[in-house]
Amino acid sequence: MSAQPKGLVLIVEDERPIADLVRLYLSREGFGVHHESDGKAGLAAARRLRPVVCVLDIALPGMDGTEVCRELRESGDWTPVIFLTARDDEIDRVLGLELGADDYVTKPFSPRELVARVKSLVRRAAGAPERVLSVGPVTLDPGRRLVAVGGSPVALTSTEFDLLAHLLGRPGRVFAREELLASVWGYAAHTGTRTVDVHIAQVRGKLGEAAGVIRTVRGVGYTADA
Ligand code: CA
Repeated sequence: MSAQPKGLVLIVEDERPIADLVRLYLSREGFGVHHESDGKAGLAAARRLRPVVCVLDIALPGMDGTEVCRELRESGDWTPVIFLTARDDEIDRVLGLELGADDYVTKPFSPRELVARVKSLVRRAAGAPERVLSVGPVTLDPGRRLVAVGGSPVALTSTEFDLLAHLLGRPGRVFAREELLASVWGYAAHTGTRTVDVHIAQVRGKLGEAAGVIRTVRGVGYTADA
């Protein structure tokens, strides 16, 4: 196996040509790639190999990709997950399940686009500021990647964490949805800004009584308010 300066990406995909294509593109970018063809083996590999990102197909033999993600999250594993979906109408279902998915691409997808999203997730995980942020009852410690409400820890996905960190980093500043998409996800999504709204809803749900810290600015986007 070649050197893995950028870390190992796990791909769980039962369609071999797709897996091979993804492997080729990620390898060229300096990632190591491990491939599994069914859900159970994928889950075991995720636990054994500690990848920097998991790329999960949804329809898999044995155990589907959403179940793999759910099992990881239930065991406290917040490794960034990108889903491969076969249909556009799966997106809402997948993002709305509170599975803790970070991103998705719809088949057929461009391998370059997938690589860009993997790199974005890895970069964000590595590039967070070290200053502890605090707005109202919410504190966020980028160095330890911990969020708490009134001192009680809150479990966020990698994307949810980075989104909240972005807002809390400049309280009172209004961020447009497109701006959040570019800054947090690192790209302009072809599917528009629905991803931002879905993730904001999930962060608010997890913040519970402190959900009001994220305020909607009608027709524009979001801001953090004490
Ligand atoms: Ca499949």
